[in-house]
Amino acid sequence: MKNKQIAIIGAGPAGATAAYELSKAGYEVTLYEASNEVGGLSKTIELWDQKVDLGPHRFFSNDTKVNKLWLEVVGKDYHMVDRLTRIYYKKKFYYYPLKPFDALFKLGIGQAFLCATSYMKEKVRPTKQNGSFEAWVTARFGARLYSIFFKTYSEKLWGIPCSELDEDFAAQRIKKLSLFEAVKNALFTKKNTKHKTLVDQFAYPIGGTGMVYEKMKTQIEKNGGKVMLNTRVAKVNAINGESVSIHLENGEINTFDHIISSMPITHLVNNLPQVPADVIAATSSLKFRNTILVYLKIEGQAVFPDNWLYVHASDLQMGRITNFSNWVPEINQGQSSTIVTLEYWSYNEDEIWNATSKALIELGKKELRSTGLIKDLTISDGHVVKIPKCYPVYGKGYKEPLQKVEHYLSSIENLSVIGRYGAFKYNNQDHSILMGLLAAENLIKGTRHNLWEINTDYEVYQETSTITASGLSTE
Ligand SMILES: Cc1cc2nc3c(=O)[nH]c(=O)nc-3n(C[C@H](O)[C@H](O)[C@H](O)COP(=O)(O)OP(=O)(O)OC[C@H]3O[C@@H](n4cnc5c(N)ncnc54)[C@H](O)[C@@H]3O)c2cc1C
Repeated sequence: MKNKQIAIIGAGPAGATAAYELSKAGYEVTLYEASNEVGGLSKTIELWDQKVDLGPHRFFSNDTKVNKLWLEVVGKDYHMVDRLTRIYYKKKFYYYPLKPFDALFKLGIGQAFLCATSYMKEKVRPTKQNGSFEAWVTARFGARLYSIFFKTYSEKLWGIPCSELDEDFAAQRIKKLSLFEAVKNALFTKKNTKHKTLVDQFAYPIGGTGMVYEKMKTQIEKNGGKVMLNTRVAKVNAINGESVSIHLENGEINTFDHIISSMPITHLVNNLPQVPADVIAATSSLKFRNTILVYLKIEGQAVFPDNWLYVHASDLQMGRITNFSNWVPEINQGQSSTIVTLEYWSYNEDEIWNATSKALIELGKKELRSTGLIKDLTISDGHVVKIPKCYPVYGKGYKEPLQKVEHYLSSIENLSVIGRYGAFKYNNQDHSILMGLLAAENLIKGTRHNLWEINTDYEVYQETSTITASGLSTE
């Protein structure tokens, strides 16, 4: 394959990594990016003379290959950040991950008793598993804890009842820890013998999370690769056994030996030639959820101590609050104000998605104030960013149509599909980086890594890895 021309669609973590690795190995790469900067959902933007991300973006990975690459790109330009994240529920703040005694104390004796009995009930007669998120979590934590700490937040995020949400989401994101284990750990793990884990600290670049991908861009260009910003791919022409080409929105057509796509899987498939009708039908059942970010400028520092908080209160529409002043001091750039962002999730047809920035800022101000987090500090400005197709929705049974689409795309030899909306996987940065790495390796070394299997290894993907002296495990 060497000396052959490779096109990569999308300069988020997945596409940028693939282009970085291939250009390093001497391939001729062209990276097409629709927006005016690299990083995708993991970009960093300048706002009110500070740097902020699109919501909270900590980096962590159990994969040594991913950590090595991250350190190779970032060098020494990162800090390990002490993590504090809490849940806001009924006017109280609970540590997250949950600390059993903190949680039970704040819930009060009556609720605590009900939590314990509903947990015991699960031990005696477990809820029947039916593939839903609701059944999965209830069986592990009991119905009462499920309804307090999982149901409201998950339904805000996904916009569907938890009984309609696939259990994959739980298996992927909730540490396999029963209440019993959590209590046992709290009682018997001595503080000074406890190693720091990814729960306690995370790695964060001094220039914001987007710095990783800006550095990759510089290196790709140094290696002779082309990074085409503001260049949207309209469609891909790929039929198995024939050469593949990219059709740009500006009418240009370019032919390549191989295409790696991280653009939305739905857009890719709907615009490919000769796709069978059943594959098109399967694609139409894949849905995405949007995010609205409301940034607020608070006049003051040390406003509240968390990196981010989860909002479980059902009377508030926001789902998460991030305080960028508590990440690394460099991104605050010496300003006296603090930038906080609030996340709202929606579908295209929802009223909130179509609301004006002014209305969203007013909503954000009102909701943030009601938590008591900013006391009577002045909110001097607001800014809204709307991100379509942010989350692939794991509706119950989503795997069946997805597998049909995967099967079809895998049959096209000169096309690889990677990324969060690219492969319809609820990826963190590290999963997308790994997809990019392995897609490149398949071309460079002729390996046959199954890229669809990445981010399905739920058993090993936990936050419990011990952190090494360098911050990230590379062995
Ligand atoms: C609010 C929020 C918080 C998050 N928190 C974390 C976290 O704490 N830790 C973590 O590791 N991850 C986090 N993530 C996830 C992380 O942002 C994503 O996993 C990662 O950015 C996915 O990378 P990707 O390359 O697969 O896709 P993306 O980042 O979505 O990049 C895809 C790129 O493709 C481009 N593109 C799309 N269509 C076209 C086209 N037709 N032509 C050309 N280019 C196109 C897009 O413009 C984009 O730049 C978070 C995400 C969100 C939304």
